[in-house]
Amino acid sequence: MKGLPSLERLVIVLSRFPGVGPKSARRMVYHLLRHGKEATQELIMALEGLRDSIRHCEVCFNLAEDEKCWICADPRRDDARICVVEEPSDLMAMEKAGLFTGRYHVLGGRLSPLDGIGPDELHLAALESRLIQGSVIELIVATNPTVEGEATAHFVAQLAEPLVPRVTRLAYGMPMGGELEYLDESTLYQAMAGRRDFRQKSLNDGVGP
Ligand SMILES: [Zn+2]
Repeated sequence: MKGLPSLERLVIVLSRFPGVGPKSARRMVYHLLRHGKEATQELIMALEGLRDSIRHCEVCFNLAEDEKCWICADPRRDDARICVVEEPSDLMAMEKAGLFTGRYHVLGGRLSPLDGIGPDELHLAALESRLIQGSVIELIVATNPTVEGEATAHFVAQLAEPLVPRVTRLAYGMPMGGELEYLDESTLYQAMAGRRDFRQKSLNDGVGP
């Protein structure tokens, strides 16, 4: 809007957020303006808190407010299992599901040569040092089932296999509540390739609420 550069600047910044287009960004700015300077001040303070307090855990690279994140600082977690994820948001999703009682390692992305992200850009050396210590008996590779995520999983597995007795990958397959006719071919292919015996006990070590 001509003549209101401060407003336009905030609209542009907010529009860069995932799921927020220029229209919603503008609505957010008007909402702030309607609620007076206090609402804006509250937002500023929350953003400052984020900027000044959030850092990466020095062990697993999860988001943290201290040197160690709350998972690394928790003595009740299982040291023998590490789950490797791409981003802190993936870790949060796993934690929300309450399925895993071990530790994590956040890579900080995935291998993507076209974007200039090679092994040195991910937290792989730190993972290797953790595994060399010898107390881990299973490494669960939970990178995303995308082309880059798969390439990353293979790289991690290669690095880990000489150091850990067991390296596993999350299973692919049919989503709960899904129907065969609506699955895309690659999901169906993976579900077929990953089929297991009907009465096979699932490998639930370290997993479960
Ligand atoms: Zn941590």
